[in-house]
Amino acid sequence: MFVFTALSKKDEGDHISPDMRGRHKKMSDLMKEERERIRAHIRSFPTVESHYCRKGSERLYLGASLNLATMYRLYCETRHKEQAVTIASSTVYCELFRTEFNLGFHNPSKDRCDFCVSFENLSLDEKDKQKHLYNDHHRNKARVQEKKIKDKEESRTNKKKLSVCFDLQEVLMTPHSNASVLIYKRKLNTFHLSLYDLGSGQAVCNVWHEGIAARGSNKIGSCVFDYLKCAHERGVEFVSLYSDSCGGQNRNKYFLTMLWYASTKFGFSQIEHNFFIKGHNKNENDSVHATIERVSKHLDIYTTPHWASAISAAKRTKPHYIVKELDEHCSFDFKQVAGHLKNFDLDVDRQKVQWLNIKSMKITKENPNIVHILYDYDARYHQLNLALRIRKVHQKVLRSIKTNMMIYSLFVKLKLFPKFTINFSTS
Ligand SMILES: [Zn+2]
Repeated sequence: MFVFTALSKKDEGDHISPDMRGRHKKMSDLMKEERERIRAHIRSFPTVESHYCRKGSERLYLGASLNLATMYRLYCETRHKEQAVTIASSTVYCELFRTEFNLGFHNPSKDRCDFCVSFENLSLDEKDKQKHLYNDHHRNKARVQEKKIKDKEESRTNKKKLSVCFDLQEVLMTPHSNASVLIYKRKLNTFHLSLYDLGSGQAVCNVWHEGIAARGSNKIGSCVFDYLKCAHERGVEFVSLYSDSCGGQNRNKYFLTMLWYASTKFGFSQIEHNFFIKGHNKNENDSVHATIERVSKHLDIYTTPHWASAISAAKRTKPHYIVKELDEHCSFDFKQVAGHLKNFDLDVDRQKVQWLNIKSMKITKENPNIVHILYDYDARYHQLNLALRIRKVHQKVLRSIKTNMMIYSLFVKLKLFPKFTINFSTS
C-alpha cells in the first residue's frame, strides 16, 4: 500500500511530493482562515462616512457601484487567482458582512426619518405620551414646505426676491469607473454643493476635492456667500435660503456669521435661512443630483475637472447647470470673523440659544446685529443680539438674592427694622 502511495506521488520528474500524513489542516481551521480572508477582503474596499448621519452613527458607506453580489464575485475572482481549492459560499460571505460590519451601500435615504420610524415602533401608551411631539414635527414639516412654495411663487414674479435651496450631493469618488482594478483603490473625495434658484430653476454647482477643503461650514458658507454676492450685484434685496439642518455645515454660528457678514456688506433688506425638518429634506436639488448620478453612471472619470465637465454637460435642456470649480483661494474664514462677534449663546431674554431646535433665522437691514430665531414655525421670534455680550446670572447668585429678599420681608413684617423717613422740607 505504502509503495503504491509513494509511486502515485511521484511526479513526472524524479521528485516525490512530501509526506502530508498528519499535516492536513482540520476543516475547522480551514474555515477559520477562510473567514479571516473574507473579513480582510471586505475591509479592503474604501468607505466614506455619510453626510446625513454624522452624529451618533458609526455606519460607513461603500461605493454606489457595489453590492453584495458584486463583492462576492470579486472575492471569488481573487481566490481563483490564488488558485484556491475551496472558496467559501456566498452565504458565509453575506453572513459575515451583515453580522460583523456596520457598512451600507447607499447613503441613508433622505426619506427615512429616525423620529418617525421610532414613533411608529412605540407602544400605544408611549405613542399617546409623545403624540404632541409627533404632531409638532409634522406641522413644522408642512410649514416649511408651504413657506418654500410661497417663496418660490414670489421669486418668479419679483426680481428683488431670491429663493434658493442648497444641498451637498453624496461624495463623488475619483476615479469613478467600473473597472474592477480601481474598486479597491483609495479614492479622492470630490464634493459638490448645488444651489438651486427656485424662481428661475437655474442650478449653480460648486465642485472641489478634499485636497482643497473639507465640506465644513466655512466652505459651504463661502459658496453661499459667493452666490449672495452675485445676487446683490443683480439687485436682489430679499433672500430666502433653504437647506437641511446639518449642525456641522449649515446650522451653526459660523454659517450664521456668514449671513450676518453678507447682510452687513451687501445691505439686503432681509435675509432668511429656513431649515427642512430632519428626515424630511426632499428638495429641488435632489433632481440635480439624480441627473448627475444617472449621466455619470457609465462614464469613466479620473479627475475633479472631469467631474466638473460631466456635471456641466449633465442637463441637456436649458437652463444648463453652471459649474464653478473651486480652488483653495475660494474660501473665507468665517470662524475668524465669528471671533469678532460677541454673543451666540444667550438671547435677549437670557435664554440659551437652542441651536439644534432652530427652524428659521432672519436678519433685517434695520439692525443686522439682531438675529430673529424661530424654534417653531407657528411660534414667536426670539432675538439674539450678536453684538452684545450677555452674562448669564448664576443660579447660586439667584438663590442667594431670593433668600435675602425673604429674610428682609420677614424682618419688615416683624417690625424689626426701624422706619426711615426722609424729610425734604427746606425750612
Ligand atoms: Zn419625521
